[in-house]
Amino acid sequence: MPAVVIKKIIRIQREFLWGGVKGGKKISWVSWKEVCRPRSEGGLGVRDVAKVNLSLLIKWRWRLLQSGYAFWKEVLVAKYGIMARFKVHWIGHALPNRVSLWWKDICGIDIREDGSWFARNMCRKLGNGNSTRFWLDRWIGSLPLSDQFPRLFSLSLNQQGMVREFRDVRGGEDGWVMRWRRRLFVWEEELLQRLQDLLPVDVPWSEAEDRWSWRLEEDGSFSVSSMYWYLGSVFSQASSFNAQELWVFGKIWKSPVPSKVIAFTWKLLRNRIPTRCNLASRGIQLIGGLDCVHCVGREESGTHLFMFCDFAGQIWNAIFRWLGLVLVIPPNFFLLFECFTGAAANKKIRKGYALIWHTTIWMLWKSRNDIMFSNGVIDVEKVIDDIKLLSWRWGLSRHSIPVCLFYEWCWDPGLCLQR
Ligand SMILES: [Zn+2]
Repeated sequence: MPAVVIKKIIRIQREFLWGGVKGGKKISWVSWKEVCRPRSEGGLGVRDVAKVNLSLLIKWRWRLLQSGYAFWKEVLVAKYGIMARFKVHWIGHALPNRVSLWWKDICGIDIREDGSWFARNMCRKLGNGNSTRFWLDRWIGSLPLSDQFPRLFSLSLNQQGMVREFRDVRGGEDGWVMRWRRRLFVWEEELLQRLQDLLPVDVPWSEAEDRWSWRLEEDGSFSVSSMYWYLGSVFSQASSFNAQELWVFGKIWKSPVPSKVIAFTWKLLRNRIPTRCNLASRGIQLIGGLDCVHCVGREESGTHLFMFCDFAGQIWNAIFRWLGLVLVIPPNFFLLFECFTGAAANKKIRKGYALIWHTTIWMLWKSRNDIMFSNGVIDVEKVIDDIKLLSWRWGLSRHSIPVCLFYEWCWDPGLCLQR
């Protein structure tokens, strides 16, 4: 796929995610690279089309290497030579002048991206041992033997030989036999011993032809998804979040609340919601300055609005009391999530607590917007009641809390969750 098409598709995806299709240009709050990370790494798990495209191209490589007749393979062999069917490692391969774009893409995967990640994950599985080169194909260990033992390879009299040719059967006993250009020195004998230790004592020969095996799947067959995730690990830098934070990112998606609510807390954890501070830092002029809607003289940052503002503090403390928890508001949202769910005695209760954690954050945001845009008034009691009602509704509608009456939920949610 041409790079310009990939770019266009990503633009459409981005506009869809950040809601800019009809409403003009919107702020992309999180970089596309981060959005494409798996959820357990703090992303949204959106597929990166460039990597999907590469994975699909690599599938052609895999199919070419499979035995069996296919007309399209014959056409390629006629056009580009027999190597088209047997080459695994294409780095440094010079392309003929006139090639189709598709073939250029397929050959260019390694050349362009400076990686032999296809070859790296391919390995020969022995059948009769007649089509796997002893030194040059990778069939034991993580590299071809010529790379693992370059000295011995240079001395071998049979550099192109197949595995079966190295297996000598005399008097019914199997053994590995290698022939050398000259007698080995002592230190080379030591290398040979290491090689002998690596080689299998018994080879379960079969009548079947040797075949390629894909190391990223248990059954050895290539899959586009395994390639995709592998490419993700190759091309993405390590996440800027620590292990504890990533643990929280992995957990939030399992909460029984609407996905828009989880997406909101996801943005909040990344400090990417449109608080006044965040809008100002993106160069947006605000009427009324940076002040929090609940208190004068304090800037509206994410941590202030949702944790350290008096208003938020009152709400959280009321929620803690409602759940019977003795907690002090910790310094950040990750810890708050951990304290909150960590206080639950078992899995059922933990799920309920995660539901309430999300609902509380959602209602804090909603009440802020009501005050800012709809002339709402500050009413702590009402927000707390709304959190109880909304969490009860979401929990029941998703069948994720046991059936209970609303007054029971208000009275003791822990008891309801344990049913
Ligand atoms: Zn405030």
